[in-house]
Amino acid sequence: MASHQDAISLNVVMLGPPGAGKGTQAERLARTKDLPKISTGDILREAVQAGTELGLAARETMEAGNLVPDDVMIGIVCERLGRADARVGFVLDGFPRTVQQAAALDRMMEGRGPLVVLEIVVPEDVLVRRLATRRICSKCGVNAAVEWTGACQRCGGSLIARMDDSVEIVRERLKVYQRQTKRLVDYYSARPTFRKINGNQPPDTVTAQIDAAIAAGTVKGAVL
Ligand SMILES: [Zn+2]
Repeated sequence: MASHQDAISLNVVMLGPPGAGKGTQAERLARTKDLPKISTGDILREAVQAGTELGLAARETMEAGNLVPDDVMIGIVCERLGRADARVGFVLDGFPRTVQQAAALDRMMEGRGPLVVLEIVVPEDVLVRRLATRRICSKCGVNAAVEWTGACQRCGGSLIARMDDSVEIVRERLKVYQRQTKRLVDYYSARPTFRKINGNQPPDTVTAQIDAAIAAGTVKGAVL
């Protein structure tokens, strides 16, 4: 566990298509740097399960096949980043998804230090292969990490194949992602704190390269 005493804030955004291993890497980074991992997918899932006002609104939107609106997502993240454990930084997974969300995040970052943006890049054919064989937990709905061989490592539920992961649907989802993310990458790519990570490698190698990118990029709270 890292000490928070002289900790500099480390604010990380992870971008990457479904199947790139982004969730696993975000979780590892959060654990090794002792930062909260903030996943908007998790927050929404929990809200839906708990039946909160947010959860009910989110479920209605998603059941109608729509994306949760920017202002709702921005509100969720703003509230979460305002909590005490996020003072030393965070690892964001699943946000921002749009340029509007990215601009809102920049406003939230005022006075909090720089934002490190990591994009995990994986060729489409590899993603299709990974996604078509992807499993989820039948109990809590989380995506199973590649290295989970038995039960869900979160809740112990059994892992099942995702019903919607036919190759055609996977390709369509990736197309939607690429369209959305291209604008986001354009928004961030000129920054010195933006880095691409090759996600088509064993998970441990990806983790090592993320660590190296962060170590090389951050010095005493200033990102070079
Ligand atoms: Zn589970």
